[in-house]
Amino acid sequence: MDERYNPKNVEDRWQKEWAAHKTFKVTEDASKPKYYCLEMFPYPSGRIHMGHVRNYSIGDVVSRYKRMRGYNVLHPMGWDSFGLPAENAAIKHGIHPSQWTLENIAFMRDNQLKRMGLSYDWDREVTTCLEDYYRWNQWFFLKMYEKGIAYKKRSYVNWCPSCNTVLANEQVEEGNCWRCSTVVTFRELEQWFFKITAYAEELLASTDKLTGWPERVLTMQRNWIGKSTGVEVDFTVEGSGEKLTIFTTRPDTLLGVTFMNIAPEHPMVETLIKGKRQADAVRVFCQRIMGEDKAARTDENQEKEGIFTGAYAVNPLNNEKVPVWVGNFVLMDYGTGAIMSVPSHDQRDFEFAKKYGLPIRVVIQNVEKDLEAATMQKAYVGEGPMVNSAPFDGIPNVQGKVKVAEYVEQKGFGKRTVNWRLRDWGISRQRYWGTPIPIIYCERCGTVPVPEKDLPVVLPTNVELTGKGRSPLAESPSFRDTTCPRCGGSARRETDTMDTFVDSSWYFLRYCSPKHTRAPFDKKAAGYWMSVDQYIGGIEHAVLHLLYARFFTKVIRDLGLFDGDEPFQNLLTQGMVIKDGAKMSKSKGNVVDPDFIISKYGADTARLFSLFAAPPERDLEWNDQGVDGAYRFLHRVWAVVYKYHGQIRSVQPAGREATGDPLYRKTHFTIKKVTEDIEREFHFNTAIAALMEMVNELYDYTAPGVSGDKLPVLRTAIEALILLIAPFAPHVAEELWESLGKTSGVADTAWPTFDAGAIVATEVTVVVQVNGKVRSKLTLPAGLPDKDIEAAALAEGKVREHLAGKPPKKVIVVQGKLVNVVV
Ligand SMILES: [Zn+2]
Ligand SMILES: [Zn+2]
Repeated sequence: MDERYNPKNVEDRWQKEWAAHKTFKVTEDASKPKYYCLEMFPYPSGRIHMGHVRNYSIGDVVSRYKRMRGYNVLHPMGWDSFGLPAENAAIKHGIHPSQWTLENIAFMRDNQLKRMGLSYDWDREVTTCLEDYYRWNQWFFLKMYEKGIAYKKRSYVNWCPSCNTVLANEQVEEGNCWRCSTVVTFRELEQWFFKITAYAEELLASTDKLTGWPERVLTMQRNWIGKSTGVEVDFTVEGSGEKLTIFTTRPDTLLGVTFMNIAPEHPMVETLIKGKRQADAVRVFCQRIMGEDKAARTDENQEKEGIFTGAYAVNPLNNEKVPVWVGNFVLMDYGTGAIMSVPSHDQRDFEFAKKYGLPIRVVIQNVEKDLEAATMQKAYVGEGPMVNSAPFDGIPNVQGKVKVAEYVEQKGFGKRTVNWRLRDWGISRQRYWGTPIPIIYCERCGTVPVPEKDLPVVLPTNVELTGKGRSPLAESPSFRDTTCPRCGGSARRETDTMDTFVDSSWYFLRYCSPKHTRAPFDKKAAGYWMSVDQYIGGIEHAVLHLLYARFFTKVIRDLGLFDGDEPFQNLLTQGMVIKDGAKMSKSKGNVVDPDFIISKYGADTARLFSLFAAPPERDLEWNDQGVDGAYRFLHRVWAVVYKYHGQIRSVQPAGREATGDPLYRKTHFTIKKVTEDIEREFHFNTAIAALMEMVNELYDYTAPGVSGDKLPVLRTAIEALILLIAPFAPHVAEELWESLGKTSGVADTAWPTFDAGAIVATEVTVVVQVNGKVRSKLTLPAGLPDKDIEAAALAEGKVREHLAGKPPKKVIVVQGKLVNVVV
């Protein structure tokens, strides 16, 4: 053991040791409870950032702690390695995406993650861009195709003009591309979808079972799935007799309909305007609106625009005919693409009616102040009795919702129905660096799935990437042109690749048996390890990845491959790392490079700081003094152990007989505190603060020198301190542990337990004052009654001097800690 703490020597040594002994390699072991700890795997961009350091440090403390508690811990790491940056780097630097990606992975694994001392079982590394992984994406696709869950359709899709590809609805954030923030446009394309909507009900219902998830994430998922119950009502188009179906969640206002609005994309637009004088104007209007941003169209602040089609539809409830308009804010994707407009009770309809001079009729009365259609300044959206709605007049509108819905069904005007905000997941991407979709198009046989025995459909390497035009694979004749597996005739392959979110939708299952070759994973291994006990990652995946992974898990269950319903038992969404008030980012120039911190201070300091500065779910403000502080703390630990390790090496640790010794007490107190803080939602910051206090006490205790029966107590304290520090700063802990003569590593040692009896104070120090001035201190048994404390104080020599034989005027005992004698 060196006299001075040198992180580099210590860390190099123990990282080699763990690797050589495969300390963190695990296999299924039925005799032990399992614990699966997982951090969201990174995209191999080339460098880790502080957010990664924080994410992985949190996971590592949990894993190492659980391991010391006797769990069989699965803690794997891998690479979410398909995706656009590799392709963009290829276009920019002329390096193949595969080379760029694999070099980045090697660098990040060997030069960065391994230098952090993370307790991964590296034998389970999963790399999604390799054939042994993505072939199973293709296999899942084929299974889903067989079951009708994967299907192709032509539709309007979100298009990022900068990424040159389609985006799923989940990948559009406030109208912008999730990756590059470019404003998303629309295109009509034929593409592949996964029918996630078939699982909408279950995805929604089972959010109630996810008690280990933050409520905020569950709310976001529930809102995204967006279940609304209402009724569909058929309005008959005057003249043609065709049905125009509307969906509404407010059947109680059906008698207040004064016009209708349909989407510019609605298939009935042409029939409605046929032969009408405004036909051309309507077509021009529709063309213009369809070219506009969909998110902006539905924005509340967006100007409402519309045009009358010239057609009327009849409200079946009162046989009134109402004009049919086309409105810019109506989308084909929600409901039926047609809405009834009730300007009296819907603000958007109100604004529209005011703008175009359309009639307004009150059908729900405000009991506090009668509403007059002519003088209303805004829509009334509150509750009240129904009016102008025979035969429902006088019924409170909340009950009216049910009554009108029943009436609509009885009369055959329509039906009750459920509407979802969730849309099917569009997975086709017009890019190269992804999983090829295993489909062949034959002129004679049509769409033919690639037979399972022909998997994988290998992503070719001889493709020119220009970033322009069609899917790169469409430009590669050797990939594109093939023969039909059914008839042997000439055919062509699907040239789109899969959304990379497919890759991350099941990787946690692959970790259970990463080398398995006969199926995506071994059912028995998954049965042992799943579900993930603790999942850790950023809040930005609240809807995207976390929803897709839940969907995939349910599909996989229904394929009979796995018995669970949900992939992640507990979820921790860690906060961001910020500096100078903003998230660290290259563009803001406030990035702190983890390599620099690790080189200067060591990984243990980097880990300790990132865990100490804030509780995991909160944002962490970067602070250079904080890093120095963590570094100094480790030096202090090192120095005190160095000083005494020779003396306590051959001493037996103290037992119960040491109860009452202040350091013994502090030791047990700290074990209790650190254990409880880790168990209680991973409050690592307060756990580390307790360790710092314990080290202070250790210094105070040893200051006068230690010998005799203080040595066993010191040994107990130092052993416990090292074990408690181990999950946070594992390298230092191993080195110090060894200095005590231990032959097996800290990582293989059981977590210390505390003796509740040792924590209770057995003695207290009582301050004795005379007329408010401290005159003496007494050491007394804890818990003495006030009268005994008073007697002891009055018997004290200094007090007797002041009393000089006379009785005291008054004696005050404060909380068993202070006695004031007034003379
Ligand atoms: Zn983009
Ligand atoms: Zn064929």
